[in-house]
Amino acid sequence: MEEFTVTIIGCGPSGLAISACLKQNNISHVILEKEDCNASLWRKNAYDRLNLHLAKEFCYLPFMPHPSSCQTFLTKAQFLQYLDRYVEHFNINPRCYRVVESAAYDGTKNKWRVEAKNTKEDKMELYESKFLVIATGENNEAYIPDDIPGLESYEGEMVHSRHYKSGDKYESKEVLVVGSGNSGMEIGYDLYNYGANTSILIRSPVKLLSLFYMQNIINLLENLRVFFTLFDIIFSIIFFYLYLKKLIIYLFI
Ligand SMILES: Cc1cc2nc3c(=O)[nH]c(=O)nc-3n(C[C@H](O)[C@H](O)[C@H](O)COP(=O)(O)OP(=O)(O)OC[C@H]3O[C@@H](n4cnc5c(N)ncnc54)[C@H](O)[C@@H]3O)c2cc1C
Repeated sequence: MEEFTVTIIGCGPSGLAISACLKQNNISHVILEKEDCNASLWRKNAYDRLNLHLAKEFCYLPFMPHPSSCQTFLTKAQFLQYLDRYVEHFNINPRCYRVVESAAYDGTKNKWRVEAKNTKEDKMELYESKFLVIATGENNEAYIPDDIPGLESYEGEMVHSRHYKSGDKYESKEVLVVGSGNSGMEIGYDLYNYGANTSILIRSPVKLLSLFYMQNIINLLENLRVFFTLFDIIFSIIFFYLYLKKLIIYLFI
């Protein structure tokens, strides 16, 4: 059994961010990761043409913003390079091949007991800690609803977006993308670029906003920020001036 102040389950971007924050404060911790690497979602389970769906301003981890020189929507490779730099900079060492099987709070000791299977050495390990952070991600398991009529007898190829890599093998094929979230839209576009005859099934009304407009909105917000900063400065000067004037009047009357 090993003891730490904090046990973190999962070494995706969230686990890395928590670890960096704890390191900054010299708090002992361990990261247990079931895969053989950090950020496994991005390294292993993301399609080739994936770019960050959010602008870089909204996708950086604590203490390390993306440089102004890099593009607004980072590619998967660029984001992974960033994460690698982050791991190196903060010297983060997750314990890989640890599948956490249970976590329970021991009220008598006021500690968490976490059981993890070390899949490399095929043995169970026990960790105790005062705090537990579960950073196992929201997209970690592929979900396919089992109540879609006819799915069990469908004979064509069916792939969840988690296992989709690229559209290169679908040229001239009929492909139906189910779902119009970020992944559905981007995969639909990827298939189109590879010459597949693509349709997208959209359940609810959807609003489309092109990257071009998105970029303009971001620029507008940036300018507004500058505007408000300038406005703040001018306002502060006027306020200070009036305050001084009042003070002078107060002193002399
Ligand atoms: C296609 C796609 C595009 C996205 N684009 C963006 C974007 O542009 N911007 C953005 O901010 N977010 C985006 N996201 C959201 C995405 O969820 C985050 O980017 C990020 O990966 C979430 O980090 P996380 O650490 O919370 O979870 P994850 O990256 O899912 O990491 C969870 C980790 O926990 C590990 N784990 C799970 N269960 C166990 C267990 N029992 N024991 C041990 N380890 C375990 C997993 O192996 C994994 O490494 C996107 C997601 C997808 C799928």
